[in-house]
Amino acid sequence: MSDFPTKARVVIIGGGAIGVSTLFHLAKKGWTDSVLLEKNELTAGSTWHAAGNCPNFSASWAVMNMQRYSLEMYRTLAEDVDYPMNYHVTGALRLGHTKQRTQEFERVASMGRYQGLQMDMLTPEEAKEYYPFLETHDLDSVLWDPLDGDIDPAQLTQAMAKGARDLGATIQRFCPATGVTQKDDNTWIVHTDKGDIECDYVVNCGGYYAARIGEWFKPYGGRDVPMVVMSHQYFLTEMIPEVEKFTKENGKKLPMIRDVDSSYYLRQDTHGLNLGPYERNCKAHWITEDDPMPEDFSFQLYPDDLDRLEWYIEDAMERVPPLGTAGVGRNINGPIPYAPDGLPLMGPMPGVKNAFEAHSFTFGIVQAGGAGKCMAEWIIDGETEWDMWAVDSRRYTAHADHDFVLQKALETYGHEYAMHFPHHQWPAGRNKKLSPNHDRLIADGAQMGAFNGWERAVWFAKDGDDTSEAATETWDREGPWTKRVKEECEAVRDSAGVIDMCGFSRYTLKGDGAAEWLRGQITGALPKVGRMNLAYFADSRGRIVTEMSIIRNGEDDFMLMTAAVAQWHDFELLWRNLPEGLELKDISSDVVTLLLSGPKSRDMLAPITDGDLSSGWLTHQKAKVAGHDVMLARVSFVGELGWEVHCPAEVAAEVYAAIREQGAVPFGMYALDALRIEKGYRTWKGDLSTDYTMFEGGLGRFVKLDKPQDFPGKAALQAEAEAGSKKGFVTLIVDAGDADAPYMSTLWKDGEVVGETTSSTWGYRVNASVALGMLRQDLTEPGTEVEVEIYGKRYKAVVQPDQPLWDPSNERIRA
Ligand SMILES: Cc1cc2nc3c(=O)[nH]c(=O)nc-3n(C[C@H](O)[C@H](O)[C@H](O)COP(=O)(O)OP(=O)(O)OC[C@H]3O[C@@H](n4cnc5c(N)ncnc54)[C@H](O)[C@@H]3O)c2cc1C
Repeated sequence: MSDFPTKARVVIIGGGAIGVSTLFHLAKKGWTDSVLLEKNELTAGSTWHAAGNCPNFSASWAVMNMQRYSLEMYRTLAEDVDYPMNYHVTGALRLGHTKQRTQEFERVASMGRYQGLQMDMLTPEEAKEYYPFLETHDLDSVLWDPLDGDIDPAQLTQAMAKGARDLGATIQRFCPATGVTQKDDNTWIVHTDKGDIECDYVVNCGGYYAARIGEWFKPYGGRDVPMVVMSHQYFLTEMIPEVEKFTKENGKKLPMIRDVDSSYYLRQDTHGLNLGPYERNCKAHWITEDDPMPEDFSFQLYPDDLDRLEWYIEDAMERVPPLGTAGVGRNINGPIPYAPDGLPLMGPMPGVKNAFEAHSFTFGIVQAGGAGKCMAEWIIDGETEWDMWAVDSRRYTAHADHDFVLQKALETYGHEYAMHFPHHQWPAGRNKKLSPNHDRLIADGAQMGAFNGWERAVWFAKDGDDTSEAATETWDREGPWTKRVKEECEAVRDSAGVIDMCGFSRYTLKGDGAAEWLRGQITGALPKVGRMNLAYFADSRGRIVTEMSIIRNGEDDFMLMTAAVAQWHDFELLWRNLPEGLELKDISSDVVTLLLSGPKSRDMLAPITDGDLSSGWLTHQKAKVAGHDVMLARVSFVGELGWEVHCPAEVAAEVYAAIREQGAVPFGMYALDALRIEKGYRTWKGDLSTDYTMFEGGLGRFVKLDKPQDFPGKAALQAEAEAGSKKGFVTLIVDAGDADAPYMSTLWKDGEVVGETTSSTWGYRVNASVALGMLRQDLTEPGTEVEVEIYGKRYKAVVQPDQPLWDPSNERIRA
């Protein structure tokens, strides 16, 4: 009898580091009836030729979590699964050329300390003690990560494969998947030349072939996978006597060097060096019809492209002079998949039920362990331990077409080690979705930022303001925008301002039983007909999945609104469980939302609307503005009297013009952020994430444990209500220096880590640096003093009363 499996719980397509780790982690969690299909030998894709560098360093909290987990796992893997492998923990020196880079290092070291990692800042002189050949005269600082190192990618993959097999999972090598068919009950048949496999779930771990595999899912709701294939190379030298001598004398390898400002790493490989640059003049492959992706590229490389390396080799020779004496060994130039931001695409496959994906990894060796863990949790539990939005596939929606992905991938690869400054807007792949007011905004000086592909004003420049990209390359609060943002906030405070919030995500939900079904999804109550409110969706652990504004037009007739970036994520949250008979529609592109806010907003709106402007807070009504049918919602995200004007896209320009004619001052997203933080209003995936429960997030008033519906998270929240929460949401006033606290800045008390910030800003109405964050429950009493670590320095922060800093009794909103 053939031992080919015909049934499995999960089928994974692709046997690189990621697919194999996913299989291993599924098996570790008990799902041993899972099958991995590999078209060639394991590692035949990008994995076999990877350099195998394994840093902890990442500016992303989620990615650092993944990498930290991987490295912890790799340290004992050989022993755990009884598969010897080469894993060298050499430590790494990250070189900083500028003050800004030093600040970035300080910030990541602080995040690392929070996660239990010890990363140390060294002076250039101290770095020389670790690396005697290092040229340091032009360095500002060096970051030392003692746990950085390199692993043999093929051995790593084989070790995880052994671990998976030993637990009972199945690997079929030389067995390409050739297609998929989804059955009526949403389970799958995966086709291969050796036969079909029926399974509950399928996972695309196809590496640089993932877009091709993604095509099979289009009949079942799938999209074009937003990735391109780039070439990435590293260059190996012959033996270098100084390097050999160092190793002999010290009994260890040299640490890795990452010269991030020059954009390359340099690592010892046997007794030579391995130089891997991220070149500005990088190259995408297989992107045109006359250069199609070959049917099979297993274990193949691109021709050497040494011209691209020249600048980097010369730079590295100045940094580590013995490199200049080395003979040329060989060059590896291999395919590497890139998503637009260079982060992987992981999680539920957008638009497709019972399908998942984990691909487009640019650092898939170091991330494999953590990625496998997250994927197993996503598939088995439907949720992950850490909030993984940074890598969630649903962060790219319809705007991520081929042109966008290509432009962004080239930009990202060429700036792989770049710093991501808070006021910097990357220029590639812009203008994908424009508001009808776009030209007018630009004419008024708007500096734009992209939000789920939509261009929105972030601030309005005036004549003479420096609008160069260079001016935004700072971690500091101050920049050409500061004065204008202050003016914008003051206009909203004293008069009225208007902002075009194009791209707000919105869905309609209708049908008999819609209300009852929604009650079973959200933690709190539904608004009455004619009213609106905020509603929260929790996961099974009571953690915050999302927040939506629910507008109730009729008994079973709703409009739900959420953040622009949440468009696919939140739609799917509703769609994946939607009962038969209910109709759910995404109408995000049809409507433009204009926020008019400020004490004079009523006076400005009155002459141009027939709406009832005396109707109270949280009401909504159909009305005419400037002669056009709109919906007016009496809410304000900035904490002043105000209305959201929801208008059909085709009339949005006329409505906007009419509001401006009444004297409303245009303001941008930076001002909006400052204004909302002063009110303690949270935003999605900053303050609201699955890292926190509803109670921890201070959202207890939106949890109705006494309602009959058994909503997700109810049992966990019930238990937390009885036992008490470990953390609590707080507003802090910070004695900050030149910068406000970035996302996930560590909070300290008496030398202990006690929490983190989730957003912060300068509050122009309260004239202080304000941070929102999560603090150990026993420290949440107003008046408690803690410290916030901002780019390596600690500043005093004081817990504020549990109410908005600005207008605590909400009198201005209700005026
Ligand atoms: C030169 C270079 C150096 C690198 N250095 C590093 C580094 O130092 N550190 C690091 O972390 N990362 C590094 N990377 C990146 C790393 O190689 C990748 O991120 C990682 O290998 C991705 O693993 P994967 O499992 O997602 O993809 P892959 O390894 O490409 O695996 C995908 C697998 O799917 C299989 N497959 C495709 N289609 C089918 C099908 N229809 N049926 C069955 N199987 C199929 C393929 O054969 C392949 O084996 C480097 C990459 C390059 C190019």
